Amino acid sequence: MATLHRTPCPACHHAVAVSFHDGGKQPLATLAWPASAEAARAMKRLPHSFVRCTGCGHVFNREFDYTEIPYGDEPNRMFNRGPIWGAHLSVVRDRLLERLPTAPRVVEIGCGAGELLHALAEAAPRGSYVGFDPGAPHESNGPGVSFRRELFDPAVHLAELAPDVIVARHVLEHLHDPLALLQELHATAEMLGRPLLLFVEVPCIDRCFETGRTADFFYEHYSHFTTASFRTMLERASAHVHFVEHGYGDEVVFGVSELGGSLPQRGILVEARRFEERASTGRRVVRAQLDRLHEEGARVALWGGTGKAAMFINAFGADAERFPLVVDSDPAKVGTFVPGTGQRIEFRDVLHERLVDVIVITTQWRVREIVAEMAREGISAPLVLLEHDGRLVAHDSSAHPYLDSIGAPIARSASGDANVPSEPRRESGLHSHAVNPCERGSAREVIGGGVTLDSSARRGSGIGAPDSHAATSTTDVSSLARALEETTWSSTTPASTEVLARPCSTEEA
Ligand SMILES: [Zn+2]
Repeated sequence: MATLHRTPCPACHHAVAVSFHDGGKQPLATLAWPASAEAARAMKRLPHSFVRCTGCGHVFNREFDYTEIPYGDEPNRMFNRGPIWGAHLSVVRDRLLERLPTAPRVVEIGCGAGELLHALAEAAPRGSYVGFDPGAPHESNGPGVSFRRELFDPAVHLAELAPDVIVARHVLEHLHDPLALLQELHATAEMLGRPLLLFVEVPCIDRCFETGRTADFFYEHYSHFTTASFRTMLERASAHVHFVEHGYGDEVVFGVSELGGSLPQRGILVEARRFEERASTGRRVVRAQLDRLHEEGARVALWGGTGKAAMFINAFGADAERFPLVVDSDPAKVGTFVPGTGQRIEFRDVLHERLVDVIVITTQWRVREIVAEMAREGISAPLVLLEHDGRLVAHDSSAHPYLDSIGAPIARSASGDANVPSEPRRESGLHSHAVNPCERGSAREVIGGGVTLDSSARRGSGIGAPDSHAATSTTDVSSLARALEETTWSSTTPASTEVLARPCSTEEA
């Protein structure tokens, strides 16, 4: 009975495959080149557990281990001398030249001895032909052809050589992740703003289904392409597939596609780069603002200590030494500690007694809840800050998207006075309907830097301690707000507008 396996397909990255052919444990078939009968018989046996992708029909060995193959010791010697194979090479040469300029720049990955490059150079002698292969000849024996005895690195070599086409023939079936290599080529071409053609060719197993033959399935070929899985791979790694064709009596499949020039991919790359730059700048600004809060001697409470709040605290460097007070709305979190920084998390009711100049709300997604909770519980502070668009802004007066449901800014800060219970609420229950009976109208005044504070809030945080804030505060809140607004961080490295980013490095090529 067929068995399902959760294992990613190298051609399309679909995650489920079905058992297909168990070839048992066999030695390497094409790359070991044993020098004696004894060595041949002593060869290690490797599992041939072929499965078939339920997404694209690709066949691959789910127990494949790339490190079992001694590519470093022996070049991959492909037999290129048969006359019919020679005729196939001529077809490939002509199909390539049809789509290339008269003086093409061709790069071949895994060029072997360079037969195709020499054939191309002969037919189009004004072109340049560069072959990458650790086993390539030391020297070219024809004009226009050169070899690099190294692995191809898309990030480095696409920019350096600016090819019109990348050729990879009988390479992808050996790789652990051929789709990843092609997608990296595609994305690199996009980043460089230089679309190019891709020509790939692999053995085709379509005929195995007609004939039932199994000798094709050997270890060095991790991947066994059907026409459908080959086309699927190309479609997932290209802007457009020009054609897919068969050659050599349908034993091979080859195709040409367009790398780069994909508008959706470009949009994603541009958006990612912008976000990265914005996040990087924002991190520096918020860190600088927190430094400023500390330098100014502000008494600060961080509201929220786990999840996204913990991300805020760690990413922006709100350490326990400078920012020891962390409160949370959730009694279940009280007594636990902020991951990474170690502040003990207190229940928010401590803010009735521990008066602060600044409350920093560390989770944007809960801002409206927290602000409503502050009003309900009679908790306030002269400055309530949250992070928006890469800086700490005053909730009450700055432009940000975390206003309450009626679009009003915060802190209708409830302040306490004589009618309010003199003891802070201690029951720590979720008395969410408790309403401060003495909530005041918000008589706001504008303080430095456009920060608006409720006069009652500025006067004190109130419940149980009316007016005590002004008496004990050592911080000039209005100048503090102004200082925060003026805090900036400017990059000394100008952002590049041409190249989106440095492409990633390749694990294998
Ligand atoms: Zn697949």
